Amino acid sequence: MKKLAESLAEYKILVVDDERSIRDGVQRVLNRVGCEVATAQNGEEALDILKSDVISIAILDLKMPGMDGMELHQRIREIDERIVVIIITGYATIETAIDAMKQGAYDFIPKPFEPDHLKIVVNRAIEKIRLSREAEKLQAERERTLIDLDREKSRTRTIIETLPIGVVVTNTEGEVVLKNPAFMQSIELSSDPGPGELIDACVADDGFCRFVRKISTGDHGTEGEVPTYELCVSGNKYLLSRGRPVMNEKNECMGAVVTLSNITSLKMLDQLKSEFVAKVSHELRSPLSTIHEQLATVLKDMALEGAEVDHDIIERAKEKTNALISLISDLLDLSRIEAGSLAENKKPVQITELLSSIVDFLGSRASANGQSLTFQSGGKDIPEITADPMALESIFGNLVTNAINYTPAGGEITVSIETVDHQIKVAVSDTGFGIEQRHQEKIFERFYRVKDKNTRHITGTGLGLPIVKGLVDSMGGKIEIESQPGSGSVFTVFLPMETAAGTGQGSADDA
Ligand code: ADP
Repeated sequence: MKKLAESLAEYKILVVDDERSIRDGVQRVLNRVGCEVATAQNGEEALDILKSDVISIAILDLKMPGMDGMELHQRIREIDERIVVIIITGYATIETAIDAMKQGAYDFIPKPFEPDHLKIVVNRAIEKIRLSREAEKLQAERERTLIDLDREKSRTRTIIETLPIGVVVTNTEGEVVLKNPAFMQSIELSSDPGPGELIDACVADDGFCRFVRKISTGDHGTEGEVPTYELCVSGNKYLLSRGRPVMNEKNECMGAVVTLSNITSLKMLDQLKSEFVAKVSHELRSPLSTIHEQLATVLKDMALEGAEVDHDIIERAKEKTNALISLISDLLDLSRIEAGSLAENKKPVQITELLSSIVDFLGSRASANGQSLTFQSGGKDIPEITADPMALESIFGNLVTNAINYTPAGGEITVSIETVDHQIKVAVSDTGFGIEQRHQEKIFERFYRVKDKNTRHITGTGLGLPIVKGLVDSMGGKIEIESQPGSGSVFTVFLPMETAAGTGQGSADDA
């Protein structure tokens, strides 16, 4: 009850009546229910109170000497429309009271009235004020949220505009819906092609446009990987683009957001590094080969002369120089692949014959290890492919050598070939140690070797598979691996019938 009284006290009521008994009666009744009440005996006095006090409800008698209730009602509306006006009226003035309501008065109470009737009408008026205030508050909140949203939007836009990397957003049609100045600078676009233009109108690189359009339709390749594409503008500026589809809350694709960063300096560093490796490798190889040959001669001479020296020491020195020579050869091969100068000498190759001779050549090594090495040509005619035979030898020589190295005695190694969808598919499978899932991606990185109880004693450089992958990529093919620890591995190479060296910089399939 106290709470209700406290809340009613918020709404100050003004009672205007020339009859003192009514003024006092109304005041008493409303004071009793906790309302604060001011009284005035005429219109002028009422207007004075309204100037200095905040009034929520005005209860006006219609018939008053001087300014009557109707006029006072008008004046109150001019001062504050939110003041709720209740008219007190005798039967004779009921029609005027209805007119007053038409002009905005809230209700009327006919004289004579019971206190309860007065309380009900006042309570309804208070409820109306409460609801209006609530509605005003909600409206203000809504406006504030809209302003905040607008501010947030313009803040996000400013951030995107000032980002140092290029950003372009497209819809599912591949039309540009947003691009920042860094994007325009990156691709050296002097004039803005305007909103809604296809990405092809902004960028001349077809591969990049295909890359953006593909992501715009929601196709972003392998889960968890960000598709990338490298493009070169104006001859010597390299850009790396990365993209992601933009999904809505229903997980539908709305388009793509693609960033462009300038990687020219990284490219130059990489090139310098490759040149450096190539130079150092080249300089090291000749003296090492000489030492290796001299050691072999010394060993031979010693055997002939029956000299009493530690044979093992020189034998180990020979093995080590041999390992260094193969490391250096691998490094040189990698540098050449990076420079795009390996797999350049393309000619028609009978790949079945090439594989058969690799199997023959490495067969003796396999049997020395107690393994079987077989070639399944599938009996069908495999067409010639146009490729660099040295590169093919390097790819399949490396894969078969690995199979021999990482398969224990008694194991089986099989090389098979078939054609699948205009591609040549060559699989090298073994029943060897296998490779745990967590290593399977990494073994294609330079110098990565799996070191466990099976492989620890096997020497290698960790460069064989990076060379294989580099060559397969440069031919426009792909390599896949399937392996189970303890059961063996299958490395499958797919090569297009027409191989082309030096294509396909992007990682998105058709980019
Ligand atoms: P290397 O054989 O000189 O170490 P590679 O790059 O050819 O270098 O191979 C990287 C690693 O991948 C190897 O160290 C080995 O752990 C693993 N690996 C490659 N081929 C096989 C295979 N057929 N079976 C099991 N492990 C393999």
